[in-house]
Amino acid sequence: MIRSPIRKRACLTRFPFQAILFAVFLIGLTGRVDAADGDSVPIKVDQVGYLPDAAKLAVVTMAAKTFEVKRASDNVTVFHGRLGPATPDTDTGDSVQVADFSKLHETGNYYLEVPGVGRSWTFSIRSDLYLRTYYLAMRAFYGQRCGTTVDLGPEFPGYKHAACHLKGEFHSSSGKQGQRDNIGGWHDAGDYGRYVVNSGIATGTLLWAWEIYGSKLKSIKLNIPVSGNGTPDFLNEVRWNLEWMLKMQDDDGGVWHKQTSEQFPGFVMPEDDHLTSEVIGTGEAPYKSTCATADLAAVAAIAARLYQPFDAKFAERNLVAARQAWLWTKKFPNVTFKNPQGISTGEYGDSNCSDERLWAAAELWRTTGEPVYDDYFLKHYAEFRPSLEAPSRENWKDVAAMGLWTYALSTRQGADAKAVADIRERTAVAGRTIVEHTEKNPYRVSLQTGDYVWGSNGVAANYGMELLVANALAPNPSFVEGALDNLHYLLGRNTFSISWVTQVGENPYHHPHHRPSGADKNAEPWPGLLSGGPNAGRQDVALKKLPEGLPPARVYVDAQESYASNEIAINWQAELVFLLAGALR
Ligand SMILES: [Zn+2]
Repeated sequence: MIRSPIRKRACLTRFPFQAILFAVFLIGLTGRVDAADGDSVPIKVDQVGYLPDAAKLAVVTMAAKTFEVKRASDNVTVFHGRLGPATPDTDTGDSVQVADFSKLHETGNYYLEVPGVGRSWTFSIRSDLYLRTYYLAMRAFYGQRCGTTVDLGPEFPGYKHAACHLKGEFHSSSGKQGQRDNIGGWHDAGDYGRYVVNSGIATGTLLWAWEIYGSKLKSIKLNIPVSGNGTPDFLNEVRWNLEWMLKMQDDDGGVWHKQTSEQFPGFVMPEDDHLTSEVIGTGEAPYKSTCATADLAAVAAIAARLYQPFDAKFAERNLVAARQAWLWTKKFPNVTFKNPQGISTGEYGDSNCSDERLWAAAELWRTTGEPVYDDYFLKHYAEFRPSLEAPSRENWKDVAAMGLWTYALSTRQGADAKAVADIRERTAVAGRTIVEHTEKNPYRVSLQTGDYVWGSNGVAANYGMELLVANALAPNPSFVEGALDNLHYLLGRNTFSISWVTQVGENPYHHPHHRPSGADKNAEPWPGLLSGGPNAGRQDVALKKLPEGLPPARVYVDAQESYASNEIAINWQAELVFLLAGALR
């Protein structure tokens, strides 16, 4: 969830409140979350590392003059340099000096040593640097599977759950009653709900990663149950969620908004959540929501063209579903969703579904080339052009940029040349603005002061995605560098000096708001999961105890209870995968 006031209400948890207070105390006292190695915290590096030919910057927040890069195997200095001037960063309150070792190209494992400060976490310089992180981040979707057994072993023994949420029924708000086959999909986030709107942006983002970077992704095995069936694992995993999204479509073409229990379950394993999983509608005719229906239309239209070479029947099923969904949205252009009485799971409410319709029209046009979709797009696209301008960008609620970009990315004959040129130019301008912001930011992240909202790590990943899309439309090496900068931020070059991806890097966060991680017996959380990140909105009640006046980029605590700053979610997970796919060499 990005840029939305409230995503979810408080989730039940068993994390002791005293632990939160202690963590808050630690932050206030020491300015850091994890005290695993005090000397390393003031030196912030991407704990995975840097590509050999890319820029290599670290950040130091204790006054010093010089730094050395040492080879981890024998502690030999391979590079030494002077730190840049101290620059105050108002978003963190840190005084920041940059260590630039871009000229070091040699492959290896290294650490920084800063005299008078300490040594950094170990990192690598390698061209296949992000392969492992990509694998873990993409495989994390398999870990989110609902309705089936999941087992990350033998690589991660003990990370498993039994088949869950095997029974479903229609809630009275859906316009139907009785049992409903509801098996499939991905658990949305730290909870076990499934929401079509967030599934839409997550699945759409992943399919885009495939469409742009498929040649790099196709041979990467994810070690999931159907590996080796002739379809690339990436598409195999995405299909698991697509199948569920298709089941959420009613016979009339409309799509129910979500399928969840009435309230959030406790912090239990998914198979121990015995609350009834219900298909939830708007409470009155036509019961389905336009945003969910248009999102399904867009995503199924993408699937129709991408699965064609691997399973033509499945591709055709998607196309039929997309067309039917599109027709439904013509009939019902703006049926919005609010939680019916008695339902307190995530709402994903959105008062305006016209951007979802634009995205659906653009994807259907890209897949079919039929004038009816082109006409709709060309009639409406101009009103959405401002959505391309930084700092605006796509998220689960605002998908107009996806519609505009897909139209311009298409190589289909017959595209309106003026519209394509217009979108390309505006996207390039936005890209240059984001790069300017990034270069000015002492931490070299694209985030602006107002961006530390719920899921700010997803906002950072989204900036990276936007830059990579801009690079696809109007190639510019600074766009790629800017995208990598956001990845460096997520993987450790941040004020906390932590990697916000579980089990990645020497100092990853440990306590995601993620039920399986909290309920199982494993010491570490499930691997590859991106935290939501700092959130100045402090929607979680417990965190109202955080000291007032913390700079926005510091409003974060590595505590399971902090759903507003430390929850995982499939939408920002998908953005991370997109960013990592773009960083694969
Ligand atoms: Zn489940």
